[in-house]
Amino acid sequence: MTLPIAERWFETKRITDDITLLWEPHVVPLMRCNIWHVRGRDRDLMIDTGMGVGSLREAAKNLLDKKVTAVATHTHIDHVGGHHEFDHTLVHELEAENLRHPHDRGTLRFTEIPADYVASLTKAGYELDGDLITALPYEGYDIDSYGVKDSVIAEVVTEGDIVDLGDRHFEVLHLPGHSPGSIGLWEAATGTLFSGDAIYDGPLLDEIEGADIDVYVRTMKRLRELPVRVVHAGHDPSFGRARLVELADAYLALRD
Ligand SMILES: [Zn+2]
Ligand SMILES: [Zn+2]
Repeated sequence: MTLPIAERWFETKRITDDITLLWEPHVVPLMRCNIWHVRGRDRDLMIDTGMGVGSLREAAKNLLDKKVTAVATHTHIDHVGGHHEFDHTLVHELEAENLRHPHDRGTLRFTEIPADYVASLTKAGYELDGDLITALPYEGYDIDSYGVKDSVIAEVVTEGDIVDLGDRHFEVLHLPGHSPGSIGLWEAATGTLFSGDAIYDGPLLDEIEGADIDVYVRTMKRLRELPVRVVHAGHDPSFGRARLVELADAYLALRD
């Protein structure tokens, strides 16, 4: 089957004056992550970068008018595929080596995805039965050439570090469980949390390689107490504090 050529690879939606959401409509829902551009006075953030199939830098060039830091909420391939396009990246110390030199570069071919991974996704509630993209980014793109590239590491962070944009300040929260080095960026002044895959409004993955249910339970208890106004997550729509508590309680009822 020949895939159609996408008119454009990324879609963009302005959420507030200084927060823009980008996503990849031609990536299957399971692997379609939310990419958050946050504009600051002195530098911008690009929180996660998608699969790395099309050029994020090119697609976002109108947003990128100053120094930008590409944050890795964690290093699963759907979040860090575009990091190699950025010369300033930020990652938790436990996943820095995996961003610099990915141990699993991923694939777009369903037939190359390990059976035990597909099984854990099915168990969590995801259906995956075909290749990971439904269009090509341009004529002649070779699906089989896909692989996450090495990235330059600029900033290695840990719990409590501050990411300073000049006018906005985000605290790094270490939120392991989904992966060892999962982080959230928390802005107390506005009650805004960028949560990565630690929590989102969909089936959570805690049985994949690198996940740890006991650790995830602790993270969920911590998230439940955060006085958030809005959570901008790694997947699915954003939500407020009431939904955060519901999601956390549902997880804890299942796993605690
Ligand atoms: Zn993930
Ligand atoms: Zn994800």
